[in-house]
Amino acid sequence: MATYAAPVSISYENEKNPWLAAAVRFDEAARRLNLDDGVCKILRSPAREITVHIPVQLDDGRLEVFTGYRVQHSIARGPAKGGIRFAPDVTLDEVRALASWMTWKCAVVNIPFGGGKGGVIVDPHLLSDTELEKLTRRYTAEIIDFIGPEKDVPAPDVNTNAQIMAWIMDTYSMHSRQTVTAVVTGKPEALGGSRGRPEATGRGCMIVTLQALKRLGLSPESARVVIQGFGNVGGMAAKLMKKIGFKIVCIVEYDGAVYNAHGLDIAGLEKHRKETGSITGFAGGEDMDKGEAMFLPCDVLIPAATENVVTSSNAERLRCRILCEGANGPTTPLADQILEDKKVFVIPDILANAGGVTVSYFEWVQDRQGFFWTEKAVNEQLEQIMVDSFDSIVGYADQHRVNNRTAAYMVALDRVAAAIKLRGIYA
Ligand code: GLU
Repeated sequence: MATYAAPVSISYENEKNPWLAAAVRFDEAARRLNLDDGVCKILRSPAREITVHIPVQLDDGRLEVFTGYRVQHSIARGPAKGGIRFAPDVTLDEVRALASWMTWKCAVVNIPFGGGKGGVIVDPHLLSDTELEKLTRRYTAEIIDFIGPEKDVPAPDVNTNAQIMAWIMDTYSMHSRQTVTAVVTGKPEALGGSRGRPEATGRGCMIVTLQALKRLGLSPESARVVIQGFGNVGGMAAKLMKKIGFKIVCIVEYDGAVYNAHGLDIAGLEKHRKETGSITGFAGGEDMDKGEAMFLPCDVLIPAATENVVTSSNAERLRCRILCEGANGPTTPLADQILEDKKVFVIPDILANAGGVTVSYFEWVQDRQGFFWTEKAVNEQLEQIMVDSFDSIVGYADQHRVNNRTAAYMVALDRVAAAIKLRGIYA
């Protein structure tokens, strides 16, 4: 496990450790900002880390104990905010990194939240619905003192969804003896979820990609797009981008990739996957090696699946003009310089995928007001925030002659540091 007391350096051996990756980017931005040493110390470590052991009685009567985490990186600008992921390879270092990225992400889009993240070490595909519900409710009960609309507001992330958020909301509400919808976001619409939330991360990716194309003098009609991941982020981005004329030439998933030089029929591919369980074997395209798909010549590459897919060993081979980071942490720090040398226009994760948490913020506002917006209002407000954030980050990068990622971190750190300074240290 990585420590976080001192500035870190990254090597080929540890470039895939997400907490080190987060720390290296943090250090670089802090150094350039000449950030106060004390504030640096505060922000380099998460404010609170909770580890829980979650007993669950399985359907066959056996008892299993799962390990879960909730990390609150910062609450300087407001309640901690961030998703919960269920995956067999979750680690505390990963959850720490993801929590800190939420702090920076919320600051980049300037919404009044800090950053948090949760994770449970489990393969949810191996659980029945009943087991999944028990696990979710007991995990919620274990962290219940630390979450709440004014404390820490979870949301979906990898392998969690609206139904799981509904169980969290219900468990929390039963303990509070009243219905508290604003304790989580990404809920079903029938329980106080926001219109437009399921599409929000993919829509945000589309909005910033359009801005980047404009900047490079390219039009969406002639833009070829490769998307890694066909889930909540990648699938939605594909659908929305196809609708406005982008050519989605390749979709890559964990079990294969499908290619069509003239652009894939995304609705057809979705139907095919529903029927067969896989994107491979689709009549509207040809299967290709999933390991090679990322290196296809294209205008836009959207890694929208997992961490660490663009690394020091493959960044050189990318042939995209724009890298729009739909996933959290898809690029390692050692790949950053390679991408810069290749003049790839990077839209960093803490900007590119911030559409999700932005509409989560709208959901939280709507729940607290008890007044729900139209989908049009949600999408318009989202567009405004994403375009303004893109402009301010790219403008900052130009002005300070840094790359887009460093600019995003610098803007975010500056905002969080200002909040810490104004609040002072309670002793
Ligand atoms: N899990 C999403 C993210 O990484 C959404 C978080 C949220 O809506 O709070 O940004």
